[in-house]
Amino acid sequence: MVSQKALLFGFAITFLTFTACSDQVDDISPNEEIPTIGQEVQAYDGVHPEIWDYFNSFEVEGLARGIDVDLRAAGISGVIEEILEDGVVAQSSHSSENPKQIIIDATFWENTSDLAKEFAIFHELGHCYLARDHREGTHEDGTCLSIMRSGPDVCRDNYTPTKRSDYLDELFDERFHNEIN
Ligand SMILES: [Zn+2]
Repeated sequence: MVSQKALLFGFAITFLTFTACSDQVDDISPNEEIPTIGQEVQAYDGVHPEIWDYFNSFEVEGLARGIDVDLRAAGISGVIEEILEDGVVAQSSHSSENPKQIIIDATFWENTSDLAKEFAIFHELGHCYLARDHREGTHEDGTCLSIMRSGPDVCRDNYTPTKRSDYLDELFDERFHNEIN
């Protein structure tokens, strides 16, 4: 079943250059279980407590794939607030004033599934922690190769409980890391 809801992501790097993008997500099953959600999680300074589970999950899934992720050491902050730009549900920034901050839209956050929240946060951490650029392209069935795809027209999202692990293998594949600075 394809969800009619379109989830848009914005991404901005303010460094020497400024870039922005927006992405759309289909096919996200509502309220499916994520193995690490509900574990006891230590605080992440500067991160909204409702985001801690997802930061922890990112570290756990990275480690399971041989990537030693330390989001506290990286100083990545995370806030939930209204994003005024139409349809954009998540952004990440990397600037001198606000190094490595993830912003999640409050309305999106209140109305979406755990998997969609994870997708949004992992996409942004893909940019601001793994330094991944967007990766387009589709499998033969038209589904996206990566959760790092850029926009609504390139492919069909398929971040389901069944496919989640495959997408995380791709996310943490070091061949695609450090493409941006
Ligand atoms: Zn992006």
